[in-house]
Amino acid sequence: MSTILDTKVEFLKGIGPQKAALLNTELRIFTFEDLLYYYPFRHEDRSKIYAIKDIHEDLPYIQVRGRITGISSQGVGPKKRLIAYVQDDTGILELVWFQGGAWIEKNILPNTIYVVFGKPNLYGRKLNVVHPEMEVYSEDKTEKGLQPVYNVTEKLKARGMDSKAISKLTEKLVKEIASKLPEILPAAIIDEYKLISRAQAMEWIHLPPNAASVEKAKARLKFEELFLIQIKLLHQKTYRKIHYRGFVFNHIPTLNVFYKEHLPFDLTDAQKRVVKEIYKDVCSGKQMNRLLQGDVGSGKTIVGFLCMLMAIDNGYQACLIAPTEILAAQHYEGLKELAAKVGLTVAKLTGSSKKKERDVIHRDLLDGSLNILIGTHAILEDIVQFKNLGICIIDEQHRFGVAQRAKLWKKNTELPPHVLVMTATPIPRTLAMTLYGDLDISVIDQMPAGRKPISTSHKFDKDRLLVFGFIRKQILEGRQIYIVYPLIEENEKLDLKDLMDGFESINRAFPEFPVGILHGRMKPADKDFEMQRFVKGETKIMVATTVIEVGVNVPNASVMVIENAERFGLSQLHQLRGRVGRGADQSYCVLMTSHKLSANTKTRIETMVRTTNGFEIADVDLKLRGPGDLAGTQQSGVLDLRIADLAQDSQTLQLSRQSAMDLLDSDPELLKPENRMLRGYMESKNKNSKEWSRIS
Ligand code: ADP
Ligand code: MG
Repeated sequence: MSTILDTKVEFLKGIGPQKAALLNTELRIFTFEDLLYYYPFRHEDRSKIYAIKDIHEDLPYIQVRGRITGISSQGVGPKKRLIAYVQDDTGILELVWFQGGAWIEKNILPNTIYVVFGKPNLYGRKLNVVHPEMEVYSEDKTEKGLQPVYNVTEKLKARGMDSKAISKLTEKLVKEIASKLPEILPAAIIDEYKLISRAQAMEWIHLPPNAASVEKAKARLKFEELFLIQIKLLHQKTYRKIHYRGFVFNHIPTLNVFYKEHLPFDLTDAQKRVVKEIYKDVCSGKQMNRLLQGDVGSGKTIVGFLCMLMAIDNGYQACLIAPTEILAAQHYEGLKELAAKVGLTVAKLTGSSKKKERDVIHRDLLDGSLNILIGTHAILEDIVQFKNLGICIIDEQHRFGVAQRAKLWKKNTELPPHVLVMTATPIPRTLAMTLYGDLDISVIDQMPAGRKPISTSHKFDKDRLLVFGFIRKQILEGRQIYIVYPLIEENEKLDLKDLMDGFESINRAFPEFPVGILHGRMKPADKDFEMQRFVKGETKIMVATTVIEVGVNVPNASVMVIENAERFGLSQLHQLRGRVGRGADQSYCVLMTSHKLSANTKTRIETMVRTTNGFEIADVDLKLRGPGDLAGTQQSGVLDLRIADLAQDSQTLQLSRQSAMDLLDSDPELLKPENRMLRGYMESKNKNSKEWSRIS
C-alpha cells in the first residue's frame, strides 16, 4: 500500500508532467498520498434551490433558479460594473460583475432561466451576489449533490486547474485507492470514539453522499490528525526522559544564602512552587525541558536567576538568551546587581558587542571564570563555547525557533544543558498542548502582592487634548509615559513617518519635558542610550514602536498610550500594556483609535478594557484570529494542520491527547499487535528521527 501512496501524482490519469509540476509548486502536492490529504475546505450543497425571498446575507452561499430580466453597465472608470437581475416567483436578486463584465454582457441570454450560484452580500440595504456562477437551466440535467470546494491559487486557476478540476482528480484517486487504505488507529480507539474507518473517511470527505457523511468524515480525520501529533510529541517527551541524562544540581549553598539574605522581595507562592518544580527536575538526573509560563509582570526573571544559581552552585555555568538587545541589556543590568551580592560574574554578549569585549568573554567562558552570560542570539554562534554550560534560560520563546533550541543542546558536549523557556505569551491550554506537548509546563499564575490592576480606557482621536492633559498631570506627579506607534513591516517608511510626526507633535505639546524616541531602525547603541535615559528618569516620555513590546521593565512608567490601537492584535496589545503596572503606583493604558471600527476591532478593544487576565485575552484572541496567526506558531511547523482547527476543535484535541496518553501508557513503543499499524505509520513518517527507529 505504501508504494501506491508514494506514487508521484503525474502517474495519475489526467495529470501530465506540466500539471504535476504545478501541483508540486503551488500546493506542495507530490504524491498520491498528498493529493488524498488535500482536503476540500468546505462543501457546497448544489441540490438546494433557494427562493429569492428567503435569501439573507448570513448564508455562506446560495443557489437560485430564475429568469434574467435585465442587464446593464453602470458607473464609469474604476467603478464601472455590470449589473444583471434574476427573478423567480418570489423576488428579484441583483448580480454584479466588477471584472469580465464585457464578456458576460455579450454571452448572457436575457429572458432565459438560469441556475445562479454564489455568496449573498448586503450592499447598503440591498442584497446582491458578486461574480456568481451561471448556468442555463435545463430539466434533464440531474441535480448535483454536495460539491467539495478546494483551495487553489490564482496561478492554478489560470491554467484551468480550478476547484472542479482538483475535484475530478481526487474523485479518480479515491475511486482507485481509497477503499484499500489501511486503518492506522487502533480498533479500541475507533470503537470508543465511534469513528468511521480511514478508508471511508477519505472517500466521504472528497465524495460525500450527503451532509451527515461529511460530518462523520471530518470528525474522523480531525481526530486522526490531532491524535497523530500528540503521539509524536508525547513519544518524543518520553524518549527524551529515558535517553537524555542531565546534570544533577543537588548542592545549593549559594542559592540558600541568596534566598535568605539578598532576595529583594518575598516570592509569591506561585514563584516558590515553580522553583521547587524546577529544582526537582534538575535533581532527577534527566535533562530538563521546561516551559515557564507567566503573565507579563508575574516575576519570571527572579525564578530564572534562582535556576542559574542551582547550576553555578554545582560547578556549572548559566546563560540567558533574550530576543532583543534592549531586553538583554536590561536583564544584564538587573541580574548583575543580584549576582554581585553573592560574588558571581556576569557578562553581556550581543550582536553589537565589540571584538575586544567578545575576546574577553570567549576566554572567560572557556576557563570558567565567567559564571553567567546574558545576551541575544549571538550566544548561539559556534564560536561561543563554554567550559561547562549547565543551564540555559530562554526568555520569550515565541521569537525562538526549534532549530535554535537544538543548537543550544550542543553547547555542552558531555550532556545537553537543562533548558528553561520563559514565555509571557499566554498560550491557551489547547494550543500549549499541541505546541509544547513535548515540554513540561510550569505556570506562575499569581501576581506579586500590592500590584494595582492597570486601568484601561478607550479614547478617540478627538479626545487627544484630554489625554495630553492627563499625561501632563501624571508627569508632574513624578511618573513616566510610553506612547506607542504601530510599525508594520510592509509599509515601514510610512510607519516611520507616523512615528516621527508623532514624536514632533509630542515635543510641541510638551515643551517642558524631555522626550525620547525608540524604534527598530536605530543603531543598537542609540537604542541603548535612549533606553538608559528613560530608565534613569531623564526622559519623561518615550515615543516608541513595538520594540518595547517584549519584557522591558521601567517600574516608574505608569502610563501607556497606544496610538492606532486598531492596528494591533490583541495579544500584542496585552504585551504592550504589560510594560506598565510594574511599580506600586496606579497605572493606566489608553487605547487611541479612529471612529470607524470593525466588529473585530471593537471586540479587541472591549476585551482590553474589560480584563487584564492574559489567559482570557489569549482565548479571545484565538477565537478572533485562529491559531495560525498567534505569534511564532507558524514557523513551529506543529500547527501545519490540514483539517483540525484549534480554536474550534479544542474538545477533539483534549480527547485525542488523552487517548494518546493512555495508549502510550499501556504500550510505550506501540509494539502490541493491535498497535502495529500505528507504529509502522509513525516509523514511515519519522524516518530520520532516532525516536522511531526500529527496535531490533
Ligand atoms: P516578567 O514575568 O514579565 O518577566 P519580571 O520578572 O520582569 O516579570 O518582574 C516584574 C517586576 O516585578 C520586576 O520589577 C520584579 O523585580 C518584580 N517582582 C518579581 N517578583 C516579585 C515579588 N514576588 N514581589 C514583588 N515584586 C516582584
Ligand atoms: Mg520578562
